[in-house]
Amino acid sequence: MSNYNKIESAVIHGGIYGDKTTGAVNVPIYQTATYEQSGLGENTGWEYSRTGNPTRTSLEALIAELECGKKGFAFASGMAAITAVLSLFKKDDKIIISSNVYGGTFRILDKIFKNFNIKYEIVDTTNLDLLEKSIDVNVKAIFIETPANPLLTITDIAGVVNIAKKHNILSIVDNTFMTPYLQRPIELGIDIVIHSATKYLGGHSDIVAGLVVVKEDTLAEKIAFIQNATGGILGPFDSFLLIRGIKTLAIRMDRHVENAEKIASFLQNNKAVKKVYYPGLKDFVGYEINKKQAKNGGVMMSFELYENCDIRKFFKSLHLIALAESLGGVESLVCHPASMTHASIPKEIRDKIGITDGLIRLSTGIENIDDLIFDLNQAIEKSEV
Ligand SMILES: *Cc1c(COP(=O)(O)O)cnc(C)c1O
Repeated sequence: MSNYNKIESAVIHGGIYGDKTTGAVNVPIYQTATYEQSGLGENTGWEYSRTGNPTRTSLEALIAELECGKKGFAFASGMAAITAVLSLFKKDDKIIISSNVYGGTFRILDKIFKNFNIKYEIVDTTNLDLLEKSIDVNVKAIFIETPANPLLTITDIAGVVNIAKKHNILSIVDNTFMTPYLQRPIELGIDIVIHSATKYLGGHSDIVAGLVVVKEDTLAEKIAFIQNATGGILGPFDSFLLIRGIKTLAIRMDRHVENAEKIASFLQNNKAVKKVYYPGLKDFVGYEINKKQAKNGGVMMSFELYENCDIRKFFKSLHLIALAESLGGVESLVCHPASMTHASIPKEIRDKIGITDGLIRLSTGIENIDDLIFDLNQAIEKSEV
């Protein structure tokens, strides 16, 4: 039994807290590859740091607790975490992915796992009837992102769980955009949650890391085996930095969301803006479903400027908000999905799913809201030709 009930306390005290030997308030960085054994077959429970390292184990216990899962696993990147999960599958298995999944998820299925005859199918998972109709005997998993990147499309998590259970297949959610502070898919019945911890969990754009949390023991055993066998683990120092980042997750997310809500309404009321995609707006398509499964609309949003705006000029004119890949850091970042994050998706597919050349994605940071709106406003004005 822990002596707290709420996630705002769990982010600080969760997992394995402190150090029994010295009383150190923080988990030490066990910067070691191996551990001395006192005799043959006699060890401390720690043998080799690919298999287990106390700093990483602390982080893994923390994320499992936050996501309400059985066990957590830390990897060297979000893509290494996704690779480990996809390694559960074998020849002829098929995985359904939502349209608008992270470009790297599409790329690894299309360019790497396809070579091993593991197949994928892109389905509009916002349409549960369509999703159910796409399931054939080879489908072994449904892999969704909600909100999905970059149009913030919302998929009904409980609906996916129902379909997956009925067909006895796995359900997987990439929960990077929401974090366990805003959305906990395992509580809704999802089997596996994945994070690019590079984003909100790390929170400071200073590490690349990935996490996996599983709902049940059998899956935990399989992922533990894959993690040790394939070796894409997170090192002790980065594990420490990630634990430190997670301590401020709740307070950062509150400010991120507060700023995002204000920016979304600023953009919606700006005459140069054609469309705003933000799950926190009442007229957004997925608003009601998102409200049912997440604490609020989150932070990420995308928007399109009218054709009379020069998008290159817009990006050039921003002074405070940086043009960069990635998201989820304390600093605000913008990106151009068509040429950056989603460039690996062919243009025909991009246009079909709505990732137009005029789309701008904004990751709102925790700066002062007036400074952020000032910067966006002047850049939009300068972009008008
Ligand atoms: C960034 C990202 C990834 C990949 O994570 P890395 O840490 O960059 O390897 C996966 N999914 C989503 C939704 C992401 O934003």
